[in-house]
Amino acid sequence: MMTKEEYVESLRKLNLKVYAFGKRIENVVNDKIIRPSMEAVALTYELAHMPEYEDLMTATSHITGKKINRFCHIHQSNEDLVKKTKMGRLLGSLTGCCFQRCVGMDALNALSITTYNIDEKAGTDYNKNFLAYLEYVQENDLTCDGAMTDPKGDRSLPPHKQTDPDMFLHIVEEREDGIVVTGAKAHQTGAVNSHEIIIMPTISMKEADKDYAVSFALPSDADGITYIMGRQSCDTRKLETGMIDRGNRLYGGHEALVVFENVFVPRDRIFMCKEYEFAGQLVENFASYHRQSYACKAGVGDVLIGATQTVAEYNGAQKASHIKDKLIEMNHLNETLFCGSVACACEGHKEPSGTYLVNTLLANVCKQNVTRFPYEIARLSQDIAGGLMVTLPSEQDLRSPEVGKWVEKYFQGNAQVPVENRMKILRLIENITMGTAAVGYLTESMHGAGSPQAQRIMISRQANVGEKQKKAKKLCGIEE
Ligand code: SF4
Ligand code: FE
Repeated sequence: MMTKEEYVESLRKLNLKVYAFGKRIENVVNDKIIRPSMEAVALTYELAHMPEYEDLMTATSHITGKKINRFCHIHQSNEDLVKKTKMGRLLGSLTGCCFQRCVGMDALNALSITTYNIDEKAGTDYNKNFLAYLEYVQENDLTCDGAMTDPKGDRSLPPHKQTDPDMFLHIVEEREDGIVVTGAKAHQTGAVNSHEIIIMPTISMKEADKDYAVSFALPSDADGITYIMGRQSCDTRKLETGMIDRGNRLYGGHEALVVFENVFVPRDRIFMCKEYEFAGQLVENFASYHRQSYACKAGVGDVLIGATQTVAEYNGAQKASHIKDKLIEMNHLNETLFCGSVACACEGHKEPSGTYLVNTLLANVCKQNVTRFPYEIARLSQDIAGGLMVTLPSEQDLRSPEVGKWVEKYFQGNAQVPVENRMKILRLIENITMGTAAVGYLTESMHGAGSPQAQRIMISRQANVGEKQKKAKKLCGIEE
């Protein structure tokens, strides 16, 4: 397993083509806006070496028997799935943001199932390719970007009917030694903090779309790949000299648009090539695993609840009964999020490949809650924090020889608490509910791992309403 320092150095050696604010970034490791997101991934390396986190952060490889980082592991039991849930909450609570490495773990696990199933049906050797790749990832303790979401163009049209054929990533040339692909993946979490990128199709497909039914892995700095960083609300605060206005001074997340322009993929890195009838299965398995992964939001919720209790105390409002009740409600919602993730893990099952898959109905219920509860938790937090969260002057004003004394005087709450601390906790709440971390805590809760309607479709397919009707009819004596 890599240490944190080795991870940072390994990223420094990559030759990524990354753009932000219209300019190419020389090295992502030195970039002030990207760096906090790299620190969040780096924590997944650091904790794996700490005895107190060993049980959650590490696992035993089923292919080599060696101790590996759990983010590179293929789940071998329901217990593994539960530990994955707990690891997500732990990291969310220590970073207060998206720590990005789950997408690669979820892609590896989904591919371990689907490559096996394709081979069983079609006599291909994708699972062999996959297992060799998995061993390489485990041996080198790599971070992978699991990339699914295409730009999708006109939502009413399938891939092959789009005006621009690149709206879904597709095969443009087949060669003896591999394939050439063009297209893009949007909203890619942690893309430029990753050593590898794993491509998967984004929707189920029919025969006419077979050139789009493609899955493979490449080094993140392969020729022809370009990254364009997404902006986040308040991102340029990270360029300021003071630390208070950042809210979270240590960590952050990031997303990027990843463009593939005639990129060559060697045969042994291909996991699906035109087997369109398996595209939907790969999407559903990846989505279900990632919907489980959203236990991370319960971890960020822990931070937000802690911050909200603290600001209530700093404001002198902590004894008011409605404040206490709102904090109970925040905890209730947050634990309900966690329950869904634990439940789908406990109810997981073994697939023919040997991989344990979460209960997909419960994983979708879990994620559907995630599209709602963080918004309500954030609303309650803002209710308790008060309007000062959005009208607070800057850190520079606090430090100003001219007006600093007025900031100190008029923003004093509880006299025992320095104004600076009150400002810090308010900025943290701002960061999670409106600033850079709100990308992960709110909008990503809505759309990450699929937008709310995607979960509702899965719930309607799997809820087995017919069986429920039978039970109802039997109890009241209806015979048809
Ligand atoms: Fe992991 Fe959560 Fe970020 Fe997804 S949103 S990559 S589950 S931390
Ligand atoms: Fe996500």
